[in-house]
Amino acid sequence: MLIAYSRHSSQVASDDGLDTYIRLKSGVCLTPSGKNFLLGLPTRALLLTESAHAHIARNFNGLQSAKAIAHGLRCDIDLINSFAELLKREGLADEVPRPSSERVMDLSEEVIALRSACERELVAHRDGVEDGGEREFLAREGATILISGENRLARHLLVALHASGFTNTRLISRARLTPRITGADLCGIVVRASDIGKLRKEFSQELIRNSQISRSQLLAKAAPDLIISTVPIEWDYVQRWMSEGSQHLHINQVIGGEIEIGPLVVPGATPCLRCIALTKRENGAGELHSFIRSEASSAACAYLSGLISLALGQYFGTGATPLRASSHWYNLLDPLRTPEIRHWNFHPECGCN
Ligand SMILES: [Zn+2]
Repeated sequence: MLIAYSRHSSQVASDDGLDTYIRLKSGVCLTPSGKNFLLGLPTRALLLTESAHAHIARNFNGLQSAKAIAHGLRCDIDLINSFAELLKREGLADEVPRPSSERVMDLSEEVIALRSACERELVAHRDGVEDGGEREFLAREGATILISGENRLARHLLVALHASGFTNTRLISRARLTPRITGADLCGIVVRASDIGKLRKEFSQELIRNSQISRSQLLAKAAPDLIISTVPIEWDYVQRWMSEGSQHLHINQVIGGEIEIGPLVVPGATPCLRCIALTKRENGAGELHSFIRSEASSAACAYLSGLISLALGQYFGTGATPLRASSHWYNLLDPLRTPEIRHWNFHPECGCN
């Protein structure tokens, strides 16, 4: 997509843009194109027909205020502000906080800044985000997530969510497990041979310490924002989540070469897991299979934990997710194939709505 932009397409600028700091989003480049310039990403760009805009774009690095740029380029502040507004609208630039003072960061602050920058840069490209991903990234800390059921995938999810900034995520064991990590827990990625023999509870804390970007400053809420279930359905747990109004995302076991992710259940608002079990039973779809307990392969755990963490980033960032009332089946032997999706309805025999 190419949009031509010239001084004449400028909007009326606001009066209060003197102290704003604008930064091009990650990956946005300025490229000469004949007498003009292209500003954008490989998939969409603005065609700049005036060199003044190219000069301004080069200065949109988040380090100088609009006023300082106008002064340096000897141009009208309105030109800077209207161009900044256009870039924000087109998803090419963000308004970012005033850069902090020149204080030198210690090593730990530097590592936190580098790690959170990667997360923010991705979030900044979400539709409608104009603050460099700051608000969405910081809000992750306020989300309380419980992973219910300990297995390989659950531990991968714990690590991936903490590493994405969801620092109030906890792992709750459900099955009767040995108190210590055994060879059966080993996957070579999250649990390695040297971890065998560690106490399970302490090992979870070790995983959190090693993966989280920074320690949470907020306490976990008594009522979680989301429960992720990673083991076969146990109906007494489901009943409790429904009566407490807890949103839950069910991840089924790997059955054959496939895994079913979803649905996300919002009690009272979307079909519950019993609605889905009744529908599957009517269709003759393996009721017995729902009790199979299996571990996912190591690469599948890494893939699925990344996929689910990104999907939860979308859900907590926007309030919307394709997993609501839907199951997605991924074929782990043909992993780049689009998943099969099924949308669920309330079942008349369930009465959960
Ligand atoms: Zn139901």
